[in-house]
Amino acid sequence: MVRISIPNLPPSAGPRILSGLSVAPVPEAAAALGAFLDAGRGRTLTITGAGVSVDSGIRAYRGKEGAYSNPNYKPIFYGELVEDSARGEMFRKRYWARSFLGYPPVRDALPNPTHMYIASLQALGIAPALITQNVDNLHRKALALLEARLRTPTGDAPPPGHAAPLGPRPILELHGTLARVHCLRGGHEQTRDAFQAALGAENPAWEAAAREMEETGNKPRTNPDGDVELPGADYTTFRVPECAVCSGQRKHNSIVKPNVVFFGETLPEGVKDASFHLVEQASQLLVVGTSLATYSAFRLIKAAREQGKSVLMISQGPSRADAVDGVEKMERKAGPVLRAYLDEVVKTRTGAEVDAVRALLDAGVTRRPPDVEDSREHVQYPP
Ligand SMILES: [Zn+2]
Repeated sequence: MVRISIPNLPPSAGPRILSGLSVAPVPEAAAALGAFLDAGRGRTLTITGAGVSVDSGIRAYRGKEGAYSNPNYKPIFYGELVEDSARGEMFRKRYWARSFLGYPPVRDALPNPTHMYIASLQALGIAPALITQNVDNLHRKALALLEARLRTPTGDAPPPGHAAPLGPRPILELHGTLARVHCLRGGHEQTRDAFQAALGAENPAWEAAAREMEETGNKPRTNPDGDVELPGADYTTFRVPECAVCSGQRKHNSIVKPNVVFFGETLPEGVKDASFHLVEQASQLLVVGTSLATYSAFRLIKAAREQGKSVLMISQGPSRADAVDGVEKMERKAGPVLRAYLDEVVKTRTGAEVDAVRALLDAGVTRRPPDVEDSREHVQYPP
C-alpha cells in the first residue's frame, strides 16, 4: 500500500515578514498595497486560499498555527476513491453520503467582503487574473455579481483537465470546483446540482435527513471540500448513482467523481499548464489568505520569484513561502487593507467599472463557521 502524507508546514523562518506593515494602521498598509499594485501596471495575478472563504462559513483546513483546525479530520484520498474493488466502493459510499449532506451549505454560501474586493481588483483591471485553491465557487459568484452589474459576458474557466480559453478576467480553480462532477470511464460531465438530485432520489432516508437539517439549522460540521463528519453513521446502505450516459450505453460501474483534486491526486496537466501560463503573463503576484501548504500553489510562488517577479502576501499565520527569498508578507487580515485601498480607488477614478465596484463594495456577506462544539449530536442520521 502506498503511503501518502498530507503536506505539513515547515517551521516558519519568517525573515521576510514586513513586521511594520503587519501591525501598521490599515491606511498605511493600504497605501503600501496601492504602491505595489501600481507597480503591477494592470498585470498583477492574485492567488488565494482557504483563508479567504472562512468568513463565508467555510472552514479552513489549517488554523493560525498551521495545524489542521480539526485534528481528527481524515480526508479521503484519491487512490481510495477510485479503487476498483469492494473496498473502493465503500469509500465512495462514505464520500458521497457525507458529501450529500455537506454540499448544500457550500452550494448556498455567499461571497464575503474579501471575495468582493478581489473581484473588484479583477473588474477594475488592476489584478484581472485569479488563481484560487478553493473549490467553493465563491470567487466566481463574486465576479458574476460585478459582471452582471457591468452586463458583460463572463469568461468560463476550463473544468479540470480541459484546456479552454480563459476570459479577460480569468479564474483558474487550481484544485477544481465542487460545482461539477464527471465520470472516470467517459469523462461525462454534469452539474453537481443534477448529481445531488440523483443522490437524493436514490437515498430517500438521507434526503429526508438533509431536508430536516436545512429546516432545523442543525448542520454537521463541514470541511472545505464539502465533506461532513458523521460520527457513527453507517454508509453501507447508501446508493451511489452511476453515470447516466455510461449506463445508457450499457457500460456499468463507472465511477463518478467531483471535479476537485483529491489528496494524493496530481493536478490535470491542462490546469497545471494554465497556472504556470498565468504566472508567466503576470507582472507580479498578490497572495491572499493561504498557507501555500499544497505544492501546486507553492511552486507558482517559486516560479514567479525565479522570473524575478515581486510577490506580496497578505495572510495570517505561517506560510510555506515565508522562507522563499524575496517574498514579502503582511501578516494580517487582508480584507480591511483591500477595502481601504478600494475606497481610495473609487474616490479618485471614474468609469463604468468604478461605478459597479462602488455599488457592490458592501455586497459581501460575512457568516462565521459554526463553532467546533456545534449541535451535531442532536441530528438524527439515517441508518
Ligand atoms: Zn460516463
